Amino acid sequence: MKRLFIPLLILLIATPLIAATPFTSPVKRVILDAGHGGEDPGAVGSLSKEKEITLAVTKLLAKELTEGGLEVMLTRESDTFLSLEERVSIASGENPGVGHSLLFVSIHANSSTSPQAQGFEVLIKKSGHWVHFLEATSSDWQIGRYATATASQLNTALNRQNLLLATAVNHSIARYYPEMSNRGVKEQDVWVLNGSKNPSVLVEIGFISNPLEEKLMLEGGWQAKMASAIAEGLFDYISGY
Ligand SMILES: [Zn+2]
Repeated sequence: MKRLFIPLLILLIATPLIAATPFTSPVKRVILDAGHGGEDPGAVGSLSKEKEITLAVTKLLAKELTEGGLEVMLTRESDTFLSLEERVSIASGENPGVGHSLLFVSIHANSSTSPQAQGFEVLIKKSGHWVHFLEATSSDWQIGRYATATASQLNTALNRQNLLLATAVNHSIARYYPEMSNRGVKEQDVWVLNGSKNPSVLVEIGFISNPLEEKLMLEGGWQAKMASAIAEGLFDYISGY
């Protein structure tokens, strides 16, 4: 009697939580966003532009994720300009599919006025910034997906998944690059993250303003290793819940 009662109790407690978190369904698709592009070079180093490094790493990451069985969508595949609005609209307009979840990963290189600044960091939106999941213009699938939970439940759940996703990616990069400075997971007011309705992170893979890191970031081997590190972090997150 007792044995039957405990699993039932767990199920009853867990049910409202499951209903409130469309983000914890199995991840089928990942949207990769190579920072900047076209007329927007991003940060400019002495040898390269941020937009070139972000695209190279993003393409390698796309390959890793596809090989791992995920569907991958790129906000840009060449040196083209995309506004922040367009990037967010791609991320939020994609239907993850009933019973599935979707991730958004933006790749950037950092810059500082100090050439000594170095290391990688993973950014998430500020937890106090609320996402408006349902609006008058919401499509049917968005209503079906988000109307089962309150705005508060959805925002709490999304903040939690953002943190779990960012932590998994951060830990994986730290494992691959123990020699690099780990600047951690940070909440920041970033437009492209603020507008996303899916678990989202922005990875700053290194400093283009640091001569040593810029040189490394331009090496194909380094780029492939960074792609593997981020991919492993994403797979760790996906298998972790
Ligand atoms: Zn950038």
